Amino acid sequence: MSPITHFLGSWLVATATTNNSRDRKLVTLAGILPDLDGLGIIADLAGAMLSGKESSFHYYQHYHHYLLHGWPGALFVTVLLVWFAGQHWRVAILCLLVFHLHLVCDLIGSRGPTAGDLWPINYSEPLYRNPVFFWKGQWRLDGWQNRLISIVLVLTELSLATRRCYSCVEVFSRKADAVFVSVLHKWRESLFAKTSLANRMGPKG
Ligand SMILES: [Zn+2]
Repeated sequence: MSPITHFLGSWLVATATTNNSRDRKLVTLAGILPDLDGLGIIADLAGAMLSGKESSFHYYQHYHHYLLHGWPGALFVTVLLVWFAGQHWRVAILCLLVFHLHLVCDLIGSRGPTAGDLWPINYSEPLYRNPVFFWKGQWRLDGWQNRLISIVLVLTELSLATRRCYSCVEVFSRKADAVFVSVLHKWRESLFAKTSLANRMGPKG
C-alpha cells in the first residue's frame, strides 16, 4: 500500500494504544519506516533526468521490499525507536505489531499493473533468502480497494481529530497540528451553525 495509507493506519493504531504524544509518534513511525527502502526511486529519477534516458528503476526494484520488509528490519526499526520511548515495553510490542501490519498490508495490496506482477514479502531478507510470502489475489497498488481504505482512514482521522484536539499532523509539528485542529473545529462549527439555521427555518410552502 502507499506510504500515506500506512501512515494513517499506523497513526490510528498508535492513538488507540498509547497515552502520550512521543510514543504515538514512535509507533506511527514504525508503520512507515519500512518504506525507507523504496527511497532508491529518488536516485533512479535523478539519474533519468540527468542522463535524459528512461529509468529502469534499478535501485527501487532491487532494494524496495528487500532491506526493510522482513523480521531483521522489524527488529532494527523497533530497537531504534524504543530508544526514544517513554513506555519502552509497550512501544516495543506496538512497533513490532505496526511494522508487521505494514507487511501484511503490502502483501495484500501492492501488485503492479499486470496480474503476474506480484510483489512478495521476503521475510528474512536481507539476511536470508527464505521464506518468501506472496498472495495470488494481491490487489493493485493503485486499485480501488486501497483507495477505499485510504478514504475511510482519512474520514476516521478527521472525525477523531476534531474530538481529541490532536491529529496525525502532530507527527511532523505540534504547532502545525494546533493550526490544523483549530481549522477543523471552525469548519465543524460553521457546518453545525448552517444545519441548525436550516432546521429552524424549516420547510417553506
Ligand atoms: Zn512497504
